[in-house]
Amino acid sequence: MKVIRTRSQERVLRLLKTIKQSISAQDIYVKLRKRNQGIGLATVYRSLEALKLEGLVQVRTLSNGEAVYSLVKQDKHYLTCLQCGNSIPIKQCPVHQLETDLQNNHDFKIFYHTLEFFGLCNHCQIEQAAEETA
Ligand SMILES: [Zn+2]
Ligand SMILES: [Zn+2]
Repeated sequence: MKVIRTRSQERVLRLLKTIKQSISAQDIYVKLRKRNQGIGLATVYRSLEALKLEGLVQVRTLSNGEAVYSLVKQDKHYLTCLQCGNSIPIKQCPVHQLETDLQNNHDFKIFYHTLEFFGLCNHCQIEQAAEETA
């Protein structure tokens, strides 16, 4: 199946390739404008949706409810602090084998998975402990 991409999708895809971290649709919109490749915000969302269904882009929801997008090849997982909102990437993927098994057992084409841990970072734990004793 040959996928024909629109110019907007190409622009969004190219931008995501140059950006290492996850980015919101709003930021994609702003960055494309700065590069004189501006497309409407609605088009940014439509392009992201199409790229998502192609398995090229994944979406992740931050603790503040904001959705951020990145290329799928980054199989990254995070420890996210509920206090300060810091996201610490973890090195390994704990479910890599599981994904392969599920794919085979269910004959399901998996594009990506999400796995995220929430709690308090070291810094915030210390601050909380200090508040409790104060
Ligand atoms: Zn924290
Ligand atoms: Zn993973």
